[in-house]
Amino acid sequence: MIKHCPTCDRTSDKVSFIGEFCEVCVSGKLKEGIPDRVIIERCKSCERVRTPTGYGIPDKITLRDAIKQGLHTKFDIKVASFDWRHAVVRFSHEVDGNPVSFERSIALDVKKTMCLDCYRKTSGYYEAIFQLRGPRDSVDRMMKRFTNFIETRGAFISRIDELGNGYDIYMSDKKLASAFFEHYELKPKRSYILYGLQRGKKVYRNTYMLRVS
Ligand SMILES: [Zn+2]
Ligand SMILES: [Zn+2]
Repeated sequence: MIKHCPTCDRTSDKVSFIGEFCEVCVSGKLKEGIPDRVIIERCKSCERVRTPTGYGIPDKITLRDAIKQGLHTKFDIKVASFDWRHAVVRFSHEVDGNPVSFERSIALDVKKTMCLDCYRKTSGYYEAIFQLRGPRDSVDRMMKRFTNFIETRGAFISRIDELGNGYDIYMSDKKLASAFFEHYELKPKRSYILYGLQRGKKVYRNTYMLRVS
């Protein structure tokens, strides 16, 4: 038997039905509650986008997380494409056990912010100083290895002092500095400088002194 949609009079021989309504009307109803623009926050320095789990590289996955949070939607969403003014977003949802999906263009209001990493970089933040000493070739090789190790794990170098016999490298994460020395089975001389108090706890900056040959 052919069904007639009570809202638009489309018939079930032309379009699919979900319950007694046609899918056009069902997705139309679902679309109604969705805002057509959303604010997303983007770091003006590294251009990463803020999501509920932190700043991420600006791709479709990161943007999906940012948009989903901005829309407060219960739909599953996917970003089909985007420029920085609009995103074409695919919404999926189940109605009475039937999957319903539709696309919508959402305007993006990009708010320029600064992520914590960039803020720290520009403010010269550091937790550890790696004092690297030895012949030029060896210290250069070790510095490259160190930089690569910490940068691929999300830390950064905020300052490098070049000295006649090596470098003082100021870096953002003392745990990663320790992890580096463990990873390569290096035994630097460690010392600690009391830096200040944070919520009643003493905060130390670590110094690692390593001589390479
Ligand atoms: Zn209809
Ligand atoms: Zn940033």
